[in-house]
Amino acid sequence: MALVTHDDLLVCTDCVQLIANAEGTTDLAERVARRWPDAHLVLAGDLDTEAEFSHRTCDGCGDTLAGDRFPAAGLETTCALFKRLDRAFGTDTRSPLHHDNRCTACRR
Ligand SMILES: [Zn+2]
Ligand SMILES: [Zn+2]
Repeated sequence: MALVTHDDLLVCTDCVQLIANAEGTTDLAERVARRWPDAHLVLAGDLDTEAEFSHRTCDGCGDTLAGDRFPAAGLETTCALFKRLDRAFGTDTRSPLHHDNRCTACRR
């Protein structure tokens, strides 16, 4: 089980798509990666009932636009996750999203 490192986060609808389905632009994925270099975001609630309109900055990508926010949490990251994301987004080593630039386990 991955360790929960961050609790009580709120993320925007773009981040929900990214977190739930690995769908979205590479730009968005990279913005999230820069804000969360050592955590993996997961959705932490029921999307149908826990959406909440908010002016709060998105904890995932940093979007300041008001809109629906959904509960999320940050987990300790793993190698396998980074590699899965690299496959999903086709990122190379120049990207901050790429495994080689994020994985502290392999860098040790
Ligand atoms: Zn967001
Ligand atoms: Zn690794």
